[in-house]
Amino acid sequence: MRFDIITVLPGLLDSPFAHSILQRAQKKGIAEIYVHNLREYSTHKQKSVDDYPYGGGSGMVMTIEPFAVCIEKLKSERTYNEVIFMSPDGETLNQQIANQMSSLQNVMVLCGHYKGIDQRIRDLYVTREISIGDYVLSGGELAAAVLVDAVVRLIPGVLSDETSALSDSFQDGLLDAPLYTRPADWKGHRVPDILLSGNTPEIEKWRFEQAVERTRQRRPDLLEE
Ligand code: SAH
Repeated sequence: MRFDIITVLPGLLDSPFAHSILQRAQKKGIAEIYVHNLREYSTHKQKSVDDYPYGGGSGMVMTIEPFAVCIEKLKSERTYNEVIFMSPDGETLNQQIANQMSSLQNVMVLCGHYKGIDQRIRDLYVTREISIGDYVLSGGELAAAVLVDAVVRLIPGVLSDETSALSDSFQDGLLDAPLYTRPADWKGHRVPDILLSGNTPEIEKWRFEQAVERTRQRRPDLLEE
């Protein structure tokens, strides 16, 4: 799967993709992540990518030209399944969307900044708008990193223990059960006996019950679906 992320602050995305699972996915050739500097597509002398809003008001608006040039260039090289705009007014990212997206081939991700982007970019190029939650960030980069992380770890072959994504919260409609590791006794705080029993069916049953109970307490809405 290939991601092309378009941003005015590429440096913000240096680190998130250079570690751990996302790094490994790229090394294995399962994911390709390219970050494009929007400024390089500006035809302005000063390489500007924003301007004052028509109708007045505070904040700058990102102009259509650099986005259009960059998007058209990428589209001339390959076909994209989605052109996604990260935006607080988009549909809220969830595990179902991440699952859907993990089967796609080529995805473009546009990051806004300042007040946002010219509506015509959204009208002409964007196929899907995604928010990572009901709060406002200063730019779309961190949101794009969240989206890419959530999606890439679901591509088969990325996680070394493939079943581990399946038992994660939301994947099966339940939150995850509590986790324990050594020591079995830490200053009198003991791991539940069942986990030390070696009785796999009973442990699975316990984990399922714990997951249901945790979901009932914290996210009853998930049980209603
Ligand atoms: N004026 C806009 C917010 C602009 S924030 C509004 O009120 O909706 C600047 C940019 O940050 C946005 O264009 C978007 O790309 C990104 N952004 C901010 N919050 C986000 C969120 N919750 N999810 C995804 N992207 C977000």
